[in-house]
Amino acid sequence: MIIPEFEYVAPGDLQEALDCLASHGEEAVVLAGGTDLLVRLKQRLLKPRFVVSLKNLRGLEGIHKKDGVIVLGAMTPLVEVLESETVGKYLPALKQAVEKIGAPSIQHFRGTIGGNLCLDTRCLFYNQSQFWRSGRTPCHKDSGKTCYAEENSDRCRSANQSDGACALMALGCDVVLASTGGQRVLPVGEFLTGKGESPFSIEPGELVVELRVPEPGEGAGSSFQKITQRSAIDFALVSAAVSLRVQGGRFGGVRISVGGAGAAPLFLKEASATLVGKPIDDNRSIDATSGLARKHASAFMVENLGSSLEYRQKMVHVLVRRGIKEAVAMATGCCG
Ligand SMILES: Cc1cc2nc3c(=O)[nH]c(=O)nc-3n(C[C@H](O)[C@H](O)[C@H](O)COP(=O)(O)OP(=O)(O)OC[C@H]3O[C@@H](n4cnc5c(N)ncnc54)[C@H](O)[C@@H]3O)c2cc1C
Ligand code: SF4
Repeated sequence: MIIPEFEYVAPGDLQEALDCLASHGEEAVVLAGGTDLLVRLKQRLLKPRFVVSLKNLRGLEGIHKKDGVIVLGAMTPLVEVLESETVGKYLPALKQAVEKIGAPSIQHFRGTIGGNLCLDTRCLFYNQSQFWRSGRTPCHKDSGKTCYAEENSDRCRSANQSDGACALMALGCDVVLASTGGQRVLPVGEFLTGKGESPFSIEPGELVVELRVPEPGEGAGSSFQKITQRSAIDFALVSAAVSLRVQGGRFGGVRISVGGAGAAPLFLKEASATLVGKPIDDNRSIDATSGLARKHASAFMVENLGSSLEYRQKMVHVLVRRGIKEAVAMATGCCG
């Protein structure tokens, strides 16, 4: 597959990049590491006039801690997230998620954390070559009026398979967007809209510049779990992230998210709340919470990710239970 023609622009700094995006509006797309974008360009899922590379924007790289917040620049390479002591110590779920993104070639050479968060939603009937898709009328995500994943659906049911996004949802991340008009900050649950056709709250001319994750307090632990068809270089069939605190032997501050289910990772508020205040060795409660997570996530899932729907739904229960147990082990220092 050959990449379509476009004009390549590589601004030298953030202001230049924002000016460039402002003047080209919807005709421009942003290129970070390119590990997702280039595939979609080849598949003709996008046909931009301008591709704006962020590779020269040094100010958007790096990880630091400030006023109780862990700040990750959008252009921070995945390998830097993996090797960061701060991420390893405070955000183990994010480290585990990045470890599971694709393969070392993606983590070490190109992929960025901002590009991972902005990974478009995916579907077996959409992420295909132009030739493959040309045999059918376009679906909702391709500006058409039908859905092949769910008969009669009036909207796109594609899934968010970003491992980083699932972890960042459980960790309660904020997303900082910049444009020539200034900056705005959105909770990740608002930045990711949950709409398959338009998965991000991002205006033409805007750029994600920073991810801010609150530093988890004393007794915190987190975990990311994922199931794939192949053992490596594969997107999640379903994933789960759990973040929690252990206080006096009981659960506190539980946040459970499930990826590969809806068009955004699902923050399962009700299931998370059922665990708060329960003793951490109360296996019956952990099982009940995992069952509720499965029930709620199942409502968002359709058969569009290359494995049976029933299997993926069952795995929500398994992954959430594993995630809770591992997060507790991290929080109590029992994980070796
Ligand atoms: C074989 C293969 C396996 C993969 N496996 C996984 C996997 O297991 N898990 C997973 O999560 N991902 C996977 N990916 C997808 C991708 O490699 C990663 O998500 C990677 O982190 C994307 O980062 P990038 O910097 O390369 O993004 P890019 O490809 O450069 O960009 C991705 C999208 O984000 C937008 N974007 C990038 N940066 C910004 C920004 N700062 N502001 C606004 N928009 C921005 C781009 O316009 C584009 O739409 C896989 C890809 C391949 C090819
Ligand atoms: S879920 Fe339906 S509309 Fe969305 S990409 Fe798949 S087939 Fe297309």
